Amino acid sequence: MMVLIGTNETCLSKGTIPNIKCPNCNFHSSIDYSISTRYTSLTLIPIFPIGNAVNIECNNCSKEIEFEELDENTKIKLIEENKKTNQKRPIWLFSGIILLTFYIAYFFINLYQTNDRTQALVKTPNFEDVYNMKFSNGYYSSMRIDKVTNDSVYFTQNDYDVYLSSEIESINKTENYTNRKINYSKKDLLKLYDDNEIISIIRN
Ligand SMILES: [Zn+2]
Repeated sequence: MMVLIGTNETCLSKGTIPNIKCPNCNFHSSIDYSISTRYTSLTLIPIFPIGNAVNIECNNCSKEIEFEELDENTKIKLIEENKKTNQKRPIWLFSGIILLTFYIAYFFINLYQTNDRTQALVKTPNFEDVYNMKFSNGYYSSMRIDKVTNDSVYFTQNDYDVYLSSEIESINKTENYTNRKINYSKKDLLKLYDDNEIISIIRN
């Protein structure tokens, strides 16, 4: 997916103010205004508002009027309107920030639950548990339990290593566990977990 950062705007307030002298046609006429909020967006998802723009038009000559050209009273009215507009900014303007907050919360809850579960599983090793490992050389791989005795656990190591933790799942296939055997005492297994070498355990 292409990620596009951009700005958009949405009109949040409109109105008419009667009897204003237009600096363009010099008529006393009503003016229409609209207040739009500009916001940054990431591939069409609004992230946060960055400010307002006001558009003013004379109803007699239909020309645009600059805010600076208005009399002081009208300016104050429009500044008030602008404040009200800011108070009623819809929640969807903040979608990106809300999504990001949920994502971060989800990430940490998930991490916590995975750690909790792994800790429980490493204390009760079972036949065919698969241990996802991170080695000190930076590579990732897995090993599968063949046998558990009173004090030891016997594994077959995966034939393959991968660079990324996200790739471990792809090498977890029955045919990849062949002849690399290794065994640990239950105590050493806990030490591997404490040293963060066991990153997760899959039990079916
Ligand atoms: Zn005019």
